[in-house]
Amino acid sequence: MTQLIDGKAISAQIKEELKERVATMKERGVEVTLAVIQVGNDPASSVYVGNKKKACAYIGIHSLAYELAEETSEEELLKLIDELNEKKDVNGILVQLPLPKHINEEKILDRIHPLKDVDGFHPQNVGSLCIGRKGFVSCTPAGIIQLLKRSGISVEGKECVVIGRSNIVGKPMALLLLQENGTVTVAHSKTRNLKEVTRRADILVVAVGKPKMITAEYVKEGAVVIDVGIHRNEQNKLCGDVDFDDVAPKCSAITPVPGGVGPMTIAMLMNNCVESVALQK
Ligand code: NAD
Repeated sequence: MTQLIDGKAISAQIKEELKERVATMKERGVEVTLAVIQVGNDPASSVYVGNKKKACAYIGIHSLAYELAEETSEEELLKLIDELNEKKDVNGILVQLPLPKHINEEKILDRIHPLKDVDGFHPQNVGSLCIGRKGFVSCTPAGIIQLLKRSGISVEGKECVVIGRSNIVGKPMALLLLQENGTVTVAHSKTRNLKEVTRRADILVVAVGKPKMITAEYVKEGAVVIDVGIHRNEQNKLCGDVDFDDVAPKCSAITPVPGGVGPMTIAMLMNNCVESVALQK
């Protein structure tokens, strides 16, 4: 029987744990505050920001919303980040991406103080992950490690293949699997004989950004398959990078879309906000 890795249930469990931690912190007079900045009103970004605010409210994290006009200049945004960096009562700063074209995303993300960078995108946090030091880790890959751990799947000694080498998913995922003592291969758009590489995997993480690209022939019998992709198909239904119906019978465990990796990202963002208090001490 294939184990269905239930991201909805696991993320709910993490949120409950965080809610309790935040309540205990409040009893000691410690409040957690997240500043969320959105520039412009891209509808998808508004949904993501709304979900983050809702999660904060549920857990007891105080959220500050900065909804800036599309025409906001890079200088204005940098100034706001500088102000929030200075504020002792702001623990986390999150800038919703994508930013309007006239703003340099890299410059903005680099300006967030590494100890307030709850998205884990700052080069200092990426460097810390690389050499195994404390710091914020990108939420989606951190969530995948929690999915594996809380589903009783050990990484140690396993052949792990990550398809995709983006800065926010593929690369940090590979580093985290290495930290868990996996034997890690990163495959990408220039990989030759992709199927041969992926068929070696005991744990296959797919972050390729192509709907249903990964079919059963890419997967070894009994592998664990983690699907990071999110797409809408022609019927407006959500699907992943993995062809679930084709692949699931061949695996020992698999994440569905929706209800797999997706809900973990916000849960780990909330976790980073709570952790920020200790890191800032
Ligand atoms: P990306 O486009 O930045 O990276 C895709 C990667 O796939 C690239 O590194 C590329 O080298 C590789 N790739 C592309 N075509 C390939 C091919 N034919 N063979 C092998 N490798 C190939 O995407 P991303 O930001 O890493 O996101 C990947 C997917 O995950 C997207 O569907 C995205 O929507 C989704 N995503 C989901 C969450 C979540 O919370 N669930 C978070 C982030 C991203």
